[in-house]
Amino acid sequence: MSTRPLLNRRLDGLGTTIFAEMSALATATGAINLGQGFPDTDGPREIAQAAADAVLSGRGNQYPPGPGIPELRTAIAEHQQRFHGLGYDPDGEVLVTAGATEAIAAAMLALLEPGDEVIAFEPFYDSYAACVAMAGGTRVPLTLRAPDFRPDLDALRAAVTPRTRLLLLNSPHNPTGMVLTPDELAAIAELACERDLLVVTDEVYEHLVFTGAHHPIAALPGMRERTVSISSAGKTFSFTGWKVGWVTASAPLVAAVRTAKQYLTYVSAGPFQYAVTEALRLPDAYFTQLRADLLRKRDLLADGLRAAGFEVYDPQGTYFITTDITPLGETDAHAFCRALPERCGVVAIPNSVFYDDPDAGRTQVRFTFCKQDSVLADAVTRLGQLRVS
Ligand code: PMP
Ligand code: GLN
Repeated sequence: MSTRPLLNRRLDGLGTTIFAEMSALATATGAINLGQGFPDTDGPREIAQAAADAVLSGRGNQYPPGPGIPELRTAIAEHQQRFHGLGYDPDGEVLVTAGATEAIAAAMLALLEPGDEVIAFEPFYDSYAACVAMAGGTRVPLTLRAPDFRPDLDALRAAVTPRTRLLLLNSPHNPTGMVLTPDELAAIAELACERDLLVVTDEVYEHLVFTGAHHPIAALPGMRERTVSISSAGKTFSFTGWKVGWVTASAPLVAAVRTAKQYLTYVSAGPFQYAVTEALRLPDAYFTQLRADLLRKRDLLADGLRAAGFEVYDPQGTYFITTDITPLGETDAHAFCRALPERCGVVAIPNSVFYDDPDAGRTQVRFTFCKQDSVLADAVTRLGQLRVS
């Protein structure tokens, strides 16, 4: 057999995702998994029932329409109007995808030519680097720095070159919990218009904001025709395994993304599309309660991590807390996370893997708080042993 490497060189170094690595470690050791972000309690019972009913009544068991079932596309458009005042036509300006993950992949494959530059704030969610690479693009990282992880808007302006094709945004931001302010969004939008850039914005944590509010960049002047907005049912409704995501954008942008998407999965999650249609129409009280529950959990975990000796960066949104392990005498997040199950029975994620600049996140560790209060309390007790071990 030829000695040529089997893996395409664009995927060189991407290896196994940190989430798979750390969840496998949790399973193998029986540790509490505060690594991968998935809730340990499923979403609303009536929404699960709607999925079961759809399966049993034969709705969505065969290929749904390519862009998604019309009912769901209508519910997505209504949701964008209800929460953000954004008007999208369910026919042509909404696309249902296999989670936000497929939406990101399809957007990159559709919108990038080889060599195009994509500016994104690091630490980035791991699929960004992979999808930009698979599309033949070049990622240009701009580092968000502790303790506030605010974007450096001058650096952003300076990073735009004639090869820059798009800005890949994520607010609320995983893993730091940073939420872009209206002023920051306005500055980014102005730059995008001035330099004629596309914006792909990952807003999967749009309902998980504790400080300030979520503002979609698509709502700003000049942005509608250049923005691809992405979200997903996974985080908002606590059904991460269903993998129902969506894109809203102008018709030409949706048409481009749909062209790539139809050759990735073609379609997915038929019966779940019916259930998510109902979920998006839940009353405001559902969304308020979700946020209140997560705020309580955030504070429980943040207080516990502080007491255990971590430096804690309070997140404004998402269900993650980024910490620094330097006060514990630690210098390497990845090594720390590999040893953590053995040391105290907890799994976390090293943020260092989300940076191109290896020094920027070397001592940062992320914990998720989308777990039952009792599980978080147990984890906090265990982490409290670190200083004595
Ligand atoms: N974007 C971000 C920032 C995320 O944290 C995640 C993780 N779930 C995704 C996208 C992927 O979402 P989905 O599970 O809907 O594919
Ligand atoms: N978004 C989740 C997280 O950041 C994980 C999703 C995945 O495993 N790809 O933890």
